[in-house]
Amino acid sequence: MAGLPSRLAGRVVIATHNAGKLREMNDLLGPFGIEAVSASQLGLPEPVEDGTMFSENAGIKARAAARATGLPAIADDSGLSVDALDGAPGIFTADWCGTPRSYPAGMARVEAELLRRDVVPTGAKAHFVSCIVVAWPDGREDVFEGRIFGTLAFPPRGQNGFGYDPCFIPEGEDRTFGEMTAEEKKRHSHRARAVSRLVERLLS
Ligand code: IMP
Repeated sequence: MAGLPSRLAGRVVIATHNAGKLREMNDLLGPFGIEAVSASQLGLPEPVEDGTMFSENAGIKARAAARATGLPAIADDSGLSVDALDGAPGIFTADWCGTPRSYPAGMARVEAELLRRDVVPTGAKAHFVSCIVVAWPDGREDVFEGRIFGTLAFPPRGQNGFGYDPCFIPEGEDRTFGEMTAEEKKRHSHRARAVSRLVERLLS
């Protein structure tokens, strides 16, 4: 499908200030002729994410960027859900990293919360969710979701990727996302799955 004309071909805004997400979105969407510019490159402010679901927060980010630029905007809201923590940190995954954001601090908090509940952190079941909203300048929106299930590993391992990658092992693997190359992570990731649904619907 790469290179075919599509409804999204040309300039779009990736509504993120997160460098790791931007790198992955560009990598996933670039082959489809999408010239992405990020909200942070455009100097757009970060909207307050006060939704209660991934889809609401992705919608808030995408709508804000589409309104500010008049371009189609793509936003990903994502996070880690741990079964034994009743789905936490979920939409608060970034917040668990504190201020200023520290990914090691976020991973340490997950480990500490599991220990507080007498759950062995390594091997605890978890999944990543990516919810992508495309907001069109005329007000329409499309929503896509991807998930990857797996287990947690402590201490975190690997220097690759971003966020909680070093403490997450996808099902069927023995390495963390942090120990995988970008290509290997792409074969499994929640974000790649959400983008592949977007590609099926909007880029074919
Ligand atoms: P938000 O979508 O901007 O609210 O932030 C989601 C947070 O979830 C990120 O800051 C990361 O900490 C984490 N996260 C989302 N996707 C990934 C991923 O692919 N790998 C590791 N961590 C992720």
